[in-house]
Amino acid sequence: MGKPESLDRPVQYLKGVGPRRAEALGKLGIHTVRDLLRHAPHRYVDATTVTPIAKLAPGMEATAIGEVVSKGVIPTRRRLRVFQAVIRDATGLIECAWPGQPFLDRAVRKGDTLLVSGPVRFFHGRQIQPREFTILARTGDVAEEQGTVFPVYPATAGLTHRQIRNIVRQNLDTLLTAAGAEESVVPETLQRELNLASPRQALEWLHRPPSLAHAEEARRSLAFEELFVLQVLYARARYENRDKRQGIAFERKNTLVRAFAEALPFRLTAAQKKVLSEISADMLQPRPMNRLLQGDVGSGKTVVALFAMLRAIENDYQAALMAPTELLAEQHHGTVTRLLRDLSVQVELLRGGLRNSERRAALERLASAQAQLVIGTHALIQEDVGFQRLGLVIIDEQHRFGVRQRLRLRRAGADPDVLVMSATPIPRSLALTLYGDLDISVLDELPPGRQPVKTVLRSESARPRVLEFVREQVSAGRQAYIVYPVIQESEALDVRSATEAYEHLSRDLFSDLEIALIHGRMPADEKDDVMRRFVSGRIAVLVSTTVIEVGIDVPNATVMVIEGAERFGLSQLHQLRGRVGRGAEQSYCLVLHSGGAPPQRLLVFASTNDGFEIARADLRLRGFGDFFGARQHGLPEFHFADLDRDVALLETARDTAARIIAEDPTLAHPRQAALARALRSEYRERLRLYDVG
Ligand code: ADP
Ligand code: MG
Repeated sequence: MGKPESLDRPVQYLKGVGPRRAEALGKLGIHTVRDLLRHAPHRYVDATTVTPIAKLAPGMEATAIGEVVSKGVIPTRRRLRVFQAVIRDATGLIECAWPGQPFLDRAVRKGDTLLVSGPVRFFHGRQIQPREFTILARTGDVAEEQGTVFPVYPATAGLTHRQIRNIVRQNLDTLLTAAGAEESVVPETLQRELNLASPRQALEWLHRPPSLAHAEEARRSLAFEELFVLQVLYARARYENRDKRQGIAFERKNTLVRAFAEALPFRLTAAQKKVLSEISADMLQPRPMNRLLQGDVGSGKTVVALFAMLRAIENDYQAALMAPTELLAEQHHGTVTRLLRDLSVQVELLRGGLRNSERRAALERLASAQAQLVIGTHALIQEDVGFQRLGLVIIDEQHRFGVRQRLRLRRAGADPDVLVMSATPIPRSLALTLYGDLDISVLDELPPGRQPVKTVLRSESARPRVLEFVREQVSAGRQAYIVYPVIQESEALDVRSATEAYEHLSRDLFSDLEIALIHGRMPADEKDDVMRRFVSGRIAVLVSTTVIEVGIDVPNATVMVIEGAERFGLSQLHQLRGRVGRGAEQSYCLVLHSGGAPPQRLLVFASTNDGFEIARADLRLRGFGDFFGARQHGLPEFHFADLDRDVALLETARDTAARIIAEDPTLAHPRQAALARALRSEYRERLRLYDVG
């Protein structure tokens, strides 16, 4: 053998790969030898316990291997076409049957060596109905998988999983030697401490596991590495943007905070108290707070935000509350002025539509610190608005607010504390993966006495009765939303379905009701105008696309009809439903889907009002890649880690990463060279994004 293989070499030069196969591998994201070594099987077949064909008996659940001696498609009387193959090993013959899969006739050839596993039954003789089958070899080849647990790889056009397996098998030992010569990203002391396999060992078990348990151990070790590198990135970001920077150490003056607590018309929930103590502790620290507050719709985030703002204000600092839209800013302003009625705090709403002179006067009040609590849209910091003593920034609905914008809040001198609030519950594992540079607080409890929204699923044929129900509620003084889905990602069509429905309803069924239309293509001021009229109760029925705002609060709205519900994601449905159930009256969410049995997603939706539960179900049904446009949010692509199963592993990765960065913030020690290199090669963009030099 020549010089040791370099893992960075193009895969094309490996044994069994040429330009054509290299191209096919490229489609799987495999370009270098390293990529191939880390190509994760999507499953394993256990061929360690193969039963000789002669020993197969009806009633058994078994795995057998044999050569195809004859095959064909058998029509049956019930028009079901069955693919059948007879396989043979040294001990005998058995018939295999695949009902309803005649297309297999093209895939399986006479002479192929097949592995089949499934139940053995009696049907004109013994027969096996494979639950699973694999072509182990083409004519004449020896099936090397016999007696092993073997991987089945994701394949692609021009390259079967069998061919990939052969390529890996031919080269594995050479590649493992190369992998063993590289320094490990996870320091060895850590591997031992956490009981992880070394990369070399893990990669061997990934491709050639002695047992299924070894394959899982390999996956777990490689998953840890993935999670760990990302968490090191986040620990670095927290170090650079929190620990290393000068923040404000607020004091517990308790002048405003206590008065506010005493005047509050309700008692804080246990969850509100818990997150407030986390936020408080953070604010007392002389370093900037960078915290995410997650809470389901209606969990009472605004009050929490107010406590924090009052803490800043009683320390003679200004606090800013930023909302994603003008309308939400106005709504916050209403709530805040109401709750602070008896306290002497100067509240300023920096609206968009101000006349020049008004705006100048408002900016002057910010610059002179006469305005203590400032409410506006995200534009508050995007434009050059000068605060005299900005101590705390609260950002409502963080998902429209990027990392860059957040970092722009930093100041010369002392950075303000930052709290971002999100009403989109996501499981902790996803939160740590997407927002790992932030500390995270969770409001996982609703204030007492809320009536859960009653959700019912109806097929479209029930629309007349559903609309009749809307009318009854409106007659009783309530308000309603009727929401239409995005159709094939086309905003034009999406607007059309809502528009047509609106025209139809306003002419016809609801011609005597106050009804209005809102959609994303309307000019912003028109939209705001419609929303204002709905908020004030002058509109009874609002027909809309999904533009109705996250966070909008109309307690008198008690009905939501969702049309074409199968077009919505689970989390989106939950956000929509959050617009009702905000007052004392019983609220309803009426979900219309096309005929037949409703999809699983809708069944889950109707079964719970708990946003966190819904988020978990959504993840399981859709996978992480699709979840809430997760990719857009920069969710890294993991090959081994599974955020649903690997929660404990992720927590360990996060703790460990924090420990390492605490000891060696810039990974300067030679011991961390491999880790620093992995970080740079995998997260170059992100390092720049977080200003981590
Ligand atoms: P969100 O978390 O969705 O922003 P809000 O802050 O708008 O929720 O709160 C929803 C409603 O619950 C508001 O009317 C608020 O006054 C009320 N609320 C908040 N905390 C409590 C509590 N501890 N007890 C009773 N009502 C509360
Ligand atoms: Mg809110």
